[in-house]
Amino acid sequence: RILQVSSKVNSTWYPASSFSSSSVPTVKLFIDGKFVESKSDKWIDIHNPATNEVVGRVPQSTKAEMEAAVAACKRAFPAWADTSILSRQQVLLRYQQLIKENLKEIARLITLEQGKTLADAEGDVFRGLQVVEHACSVTSLMLGETMPSITKDMDLYSYRLPLGVCAGIAPFNFPAMIPLWMFPMAMVCGNTFLMKPSERVPGATMLLAKLLQDSGAPDGTLNIIHGQHEAVNFICDHPDIKAISFVGSNQAGEYIFERGSRNGKRVQANMGAKNHGVVMPDANKENTLNQLVGAAFGAAGQRCMALSTAVLVGEAKKWLPELVERAKNLRVNAGDQPGADLGPLITPQAKERVCNLIDSGAKEGASILLDGRKIKVKGYENGNFVGPTIISNVKPSMTCYKEEIFGPVLVVLETETLDEAIKIVNDNPYGNGTAIFTTNGAIARKYAHMVDVGQVGVNVPIPVPLPMFSFTGSRSSFRGDTNFYGKQGIQFYTQLKTITSQWKEEDATLSSPAVVMPT
Ligand code: NAD
Repeated sequence: RILQVSSKVNSTWYPASSFSSSSVPTVKLFIDGKFVESKSDKWIDIHNPATNEVVGRVPQSTKAEMEAAVAACKRAFPAWADTSILSRQQVLLRYQQLIKENLKEIARLITLEQGKTLADAEGDVFRGLQVVEHACSVTSLMLGETMPSITKDMDLYSYRLPLGVCAGIAPFNFPAMIPLWMFPMAMVCGNTFLMKPSERVPGATMLLAKLLQDSGAPDGTLNIIHGQHEAVNFICDHPDIKAISFVGSNQAGEYIFERGSRNGKRVQANMGAKNHGVVMPDANKENTLNQLVGAAFGAAGQRCMALSTAVLVGEAKKWLPELVERAKNLRVNAGDQPGADLGPLITPQAKERVCNLIDSGAKEGASILLDGRKIKVKGYENGNFVGPTIISNVKPSMTCYKEEIFGPVLVVLETETLDEAIKIVNDNPYGNGTAIFTTNGAIARKYAHMVDVGQVGVNVPIPVPLPMFSFTGSRSSFRGDTNFYGKQGIQFYTQLKTITSQWKEEDATLSSPAVVMPT
């Protein structure tokens, strides 16, 4: 039954025939349990980044459609919040099963719209699935606190309660994982949710919504709108939306944090990054070089936790030629082609930006040891491909170091000591992730303690915490005070209500008004 549902969803957005036919499939809105065609006169083309062919069109939702979506969230909230926690948990338990059964289909949509390799797209779904699985522990995660007998006959206890309507705004680079950081956690707590996926990659979110509906989520509990700035402003300003989860660039995140906060909403915003991998000369060379290459170039560098900067300490600088050799061997191809290690960038504009940043490195005195700017991929000559690129002799003042490149480009700095490396990392404004490669426990410990970055890997290149922890990027990589998923995620999507109750035995009834502050 489930697979039938899946193929029906598939034919709604991307029928197999659509690529040869002239009509381009349209992405629907999801309002009050129905997938509906937008009445908008403004549409955005969705391209396959490997070919730049248009594979679909997504609407910029009209004001009336966005209002209808929030109204549906608001209507559905009281009953959903009142649904027993065990029933909400059951929906999520069914959901994790349906995601597993449809994982390949979700991954196919991701590769089609986003470009990453199929294997990597499956990883994208899998890491989101882990959050859904974690959300199934809601019966423990939402426990309140109690303190009996705070004074005679009096007990104190607190509940964690949902906020109401929450909203999510997602980026293009993880079309499944990041929406799954958001609505499953919010909804299992009893909130209803308005999702705005990235306009470049809406397909995975739509299929995920269908699967959630099939899992038993009542109509109106999840609604989906599409669009860009107008949809974002609508979310930031709507009085019925209590909290916003954002993941994306600093430009958008800082704006949304400020506008949403000014309107009295909770906002959590995960943003850009410049992640450093510090390589000590005592590191396991084979392991370290493979880890660096995988983490710098995997997903064409379009990961917020990509290890985009290597800091080679002391003798480790001699490893550069081998690093280049390994990067050269990576296979660049369309994400659905067998053996592809990395696919294209999301848009021609993204490719141009990445190439300009590589140019800036050359102009500002760095050395381009491996140059992916002119790569041609046979059969995909129109794709947005950039091959693995390594820039050495980079200084912190250079543009290619200061900007988040978000492409398959590794910039390399060199230092004589660990202390100098730590200073470089701590002077960088971003604090998303970092890694140290060493076989010396004391060095690893010193690095983990001294470095001012929210997520640290020791011989682990992309230290994204599993969902029983939280995603804890810091400094310019995050705005807000409560992180995504894990215990923090539950805190973000709930508010505390504290009850002080007194049950006296009859003969202890007050004989006169108590006008003095109780102590
Ligand atoms: P983006 O900021 O361009 O888009 C994210 C969302 O914001 C989209 O839904 C988009 O419609 C909307 N948006 C874009 N520009 C806007 C603007 N000026 N005003 C209002 N809304 C706007 O980000 P992207 O290019 O889709 O994603 C890449 C960025 O996301 C990178 O900087 C990457 O580091 C970051 N990212 C961070 C994390 C993290 O957890 N820290 C995870 C993934 C991606």
